[in-house]
Amino acid sequence: MLTIGLTGGIGSGKSAAADCFRDLGINVVDADWAARVVVQPGKPALEKIATYFGAGILLENGELDRAKLRQRVFQDEGERTWLEELLHPLIREEIVAALQASASPYAILESPLLIESGQYQLVQRVCVVDVPEEVQLQRAGRRDGNTPEQIRKIMAAQLPRQERLARADDILDNAGDLASLGDQVTELHRKYLQLAKSADD
Ligand code: ADP
Repeated sequence: MLTIGLTGGIGSGKSAAADCFRDLGINVVDADWAARVVVQPGKPALEKIATYFGAGILLENGELDRAKLRQRVFQDEGERTWLEELLHPLIREEIVAALQASASPYAILESPLLIESGQYQLVQRVCVVDVPEEVQLQRAGRRDGNTPEQIRKIMAAQLPRQERLARADDILDNAGDLASLGDQVTELHRKYLQLAKSADD
């Protein structure tokens, strides 16, 4: 099954582009969704996390306190490594299962850290949603109410724009309006249908 990785920095318009693909009937698997699923109550990973970090890492309703966990691993590299080694294979399994269950002619894996996390190994092509950094700051700020400093911190943990673009097979230029993004997605969709078809032949 042809799988396309859809990535881009914070606020670049990944979700907007993913919605365009969904509107065309394409199955989109969201890596952030997979990362949440594996730590849901009742999943073995959550029990392991609670044993390792203490029950204080859980909210009163038994769900993971993500903000607290982020803070803990931000301060301690050893703990971060432990957590990543636990979660990365599980997230990968979840993504693979969702991709395999896909019934559309090709599938999209939407991931903010597609290249950084190694998830690009699950896809045949990389599609980058690209905007200038000022646009990222504006749109992400408007969406989340974060300050430019907070957004810059997140951007610093992601690949620099040029390095991401260097890994792209296809680029969606999202500096324009949503209609322009939709047109570009429709054009790429035609190309991906062709690629999926020739892979089947
Ligand atoms: P990402 O998923 O990459 O973080 P989003 O798709 O959530 O980015 O887009 C960030 C914000 O910018 C959202 O509020 C979205 O509605 C808005 N947005 C995305 N693309 C455009 C565009 N072309 N024009 C105007 N606003 C946009």
